[in-house]
Amino acid sequence: MAEVELTTEQADSLRRELVSERSHLEAMLKLSKDGARPVGLSEPIGRLTRMDAIQQQQMTKATRAGHERRLRLIESALNAYDAGDYGLCRECEEPVGYRRLQARPEAPFCLECQSQREST
Ligand SMILES: [Zn+2]
Repeated sequence: MAEVELTTEQADSLRRELVSERSHLEAMLKLSKDGARPVGLSEPIGRLTRMDAIQQQQMTKATRAGHERRLRLIESALNAYDAGDYGLCRECEEPVGYRRLQARPEAPFCLECQSQREST
C-alpha cells in the first residue's frame, strides 16, 4: 500500500505538533528531574515509605526514559524537516503517510519497515 508524500500544509502542521510536543516533553523532564534521583539512605523516612519512594523513583525513571526516547525521535524528525526529508521512511525512503504521522509525528519509519523491525 503506497503512501503519498505530505503536502506543505500537512508537513507544516506536523512540524508545529512536533515543536509543541518537544516543549511539553522538555517541561515534563524538568519536572520529573527531582523524582528520578536516588532515594538517599539518610532521608528521614520510615521503611515502608522508603520502599514506596524507591518504587516511585523507579517509575519516574522509566517514564523519563520513555520521554527521553521520544524527545530524541522528535529532535531527529525536526532535523529531517530542516533537511527536507521529513515524512520519508528512514529505511526505504518511501513516504510514511500522513495518517500515521498524525498519530505519531515523530515516526521515523513507515508502517511496513516499523513492523519488520519489531518482528526481528
Ligand atoms: Zn519504510
